[in-house]
Amino acid sequence: MFCKGAFYLLKEKTVNRQDYAAKRELKKQNRLDAGLISGRFPEVSGMVIHMTYSQKVLNPILMERTINICPDSYAYFNMECMTKSCSNGGFDLTSIIADMVKKHTKSAKGEINCKGEVGVAASGHAFVLYEISIQYKK
Ligand SMILES: [Zn+2]
Repeated sequence: MFCKGAFYLLKEKTVNRQDYAAKRELKKQNRLDAGLISGRFPEVSGMVIHMTYSQKVLNPILMERTINICPDSYAYFNMECMTKSCSNGGFDLTSIIADMVKKHTKSAKGEINCKGEVGVAASGHAFVLYEISIQYKK
């Protein structure tokens, strides 16, 4: 499996300034706290996460990412919201993935809405559609 080893090293279709800034934000975060996949989820041999980010505003950003996770990747699955004025927002797949591993679920799909606040705009200003597939060691 092609594996890049970190959540923020991504294949990106659409790149713009906000996207770049968001990526830098991600890098700044302390992923060390999360530990490695091999430590946190030793039964996992690999993982592929596909995400589509969208904003429910004028000029929606549509961004797709496919992320390949290895046992030596960080178990860090939190993506920053790319809405500039959003505070305390973001998309955290950690609990979804932890739950999948617990149940040995091989694939899951869903949507996460950003719960951050952006002044006058209502919450739900941005959302991520995700598809996760996990391979397990026997
Ligand atoms: Zn947000």
